[in-house]
Amino acid sequence: MGLLTSLLLSPWALIVTTTLFALTGSLYYLLRPRLRLKFQDKAVLPAATTEKLLSDANKGISKPVSVNYHFTRKCNKVCGFCFHTEKTSYVAKEDDMKRGLKLLKEAGMKKINFAGGEPFLYPKQLAMLCEYCKIDLQLESVSIISNGTKITEDWLQKYGRFVDVLGVSCDSFDEATNIEIGRGTGKNVTQLFLIRGWCRDLGIKFKLNTVVCSFNWQEEMATTVEQLDPFRWKCFQVLEVQDENDASTTDADLDKRKRNAKRFVISDQQFADFCNNHKHLSCFVPESNQLMASSYLILDEYLCFLDKGDGKEKQSSCILDVGVAEALKEVYWDQAAFAARGGVYDWSRVGEESKGCGSGSTALEW
Ligand code: SF4
Repeated sequence: MGLLTSLLLSPWALIVTTTLFALTGSLYYLLRPRLRLKFQDKAVLPAATTEKLLSDANKGISKPVSVNYHFTRKCNKVCGFCFHTEKTSYVAKEDDMKRGLKLLKEAGMKKINFAGGEPFLYPKQLAMLCEYCKIDLQLESVSIISNGTKITEDWLQKYGRFVDVLGVSCDSFDEATNIEIGRGTGKNVTQLFLIRGWCRDLGIKFKLNTVVCSFNWQEEMATTVEQLDPFRWKCFQVLEVQDENDASTTDADLDKRKRNAKRFVISDQQFADFCNNHKHLSCFVPESNQLMASSYLILDEYLCFLDKGDGKEKQSSCILDVGVAEALKEVYWDQAAFAARGGVYDWSRVGEESKGCGSGSTALEW
């Protein structure tokens, strides 16, 4: 007994106990997101959410179920058709971002997509935003859309557990075309396959976005897309937006932040031809520019909604000043078109059902 007491009171016992406490604490911190995710309510079924959205839209009720938050306009690429250009370098303060996101969640947001500019130019803020939305706000889906050039394995290993979907933009598998468009690095395709592999290892859904324009509408992309095996491949018809990418050629040459998308524009028939050549892929999701202009809910770097529909781009008041409902009234967002285009889909992390293009699954088609 005396021996046991002196052992328990010895400095060694103190060191062992402290180490055990520290290890348990670290283990809890590391597993915390996984534990919470495991026990959170099962996501609302997409079909039920879509039906509810359509019925709300008919009654004139607006709910920001899926929001694209462009928290920065800064980008390391110069795509000639970019319609969210670097007009400002503003990035909101962390407290304001969190307050805005909380207001959106209270107003009905279930999915957030962080976009830019290039979101990975701000890796710390991006990590903070993803963790806040997934853990604190418990959103069904947190996604990021990136040009892929700044994504690292290290970032994904540290913060990938807060991300459901990672989308990467790629307009061509021919490096010369990518360079011509302004997004090329000379190794876009290699980087794409790396990102695809990291996502697969970490259980993040991998998505591909392509802008169909005058440089790629005749390209055969199906073979490589099948190899990349994204769960969704969104193809947009290039869009001209007043005050974003309609600068004159001279202005665009003088100021690298300005864009002239005219030489990228394609006809509806050319877009239809591209779609016909790729529609056999189960992951293929085409979007014409009319649909794209009104069915995305965009929040800009000042936490204002943007309306990129017909004519001049409109900006609402800041949601921190007037609230989400009031700000929504100031822009046109076609909630019915959003629901009808399949805006609500299986958007949480990889599950049994999430097979991609290569698998030939139609489980995610709408
Ligand atoms: S379209 Fe190109 S330039 Fe514009 S934000 Fe995306 S990667 Fe950057």
